[in-house]
Amino acid sequence: MKRLEREVRTVRLMIDLYCRRHHGVKGPCANCRELAAYAERRIGKCPFGEEKPACGRCTIHCYKPEMKARIREVMRFAGPRMTWRHPLLAVRHLFGR
Ligand SMILES: [Zn+2]
Repeated sequence: MKRLEREVRTVRLMIDLYCRRHHGVKGPCANCRELAAYAERRIGKCPFGEEKPACGRCTIHCYKPEMKARIREVMRFAGPRMTWRHPLLAVRHLFGR
């Protein structure tokens, strides 16, 4: 799988997990779907393409502040829970410290 596809998949999984625990609905709610779509667009448009660095370490910071705050919260919650559930999707590098 290509790196960008893997990132998109990872972000989706994390948002699903976050939404299930925090918003208590089945499947991502409208807000979380919006966030997922936004993240997906940003990843797709990343000028680094397949060479894309970890978003947390990127120099561009293409997320707008509001979305960035939301995605960070998702990462903080879902990150540690993802690594054992989906160990192959190394997530930590995404927005990690
Ligand atoms: Zn939600």
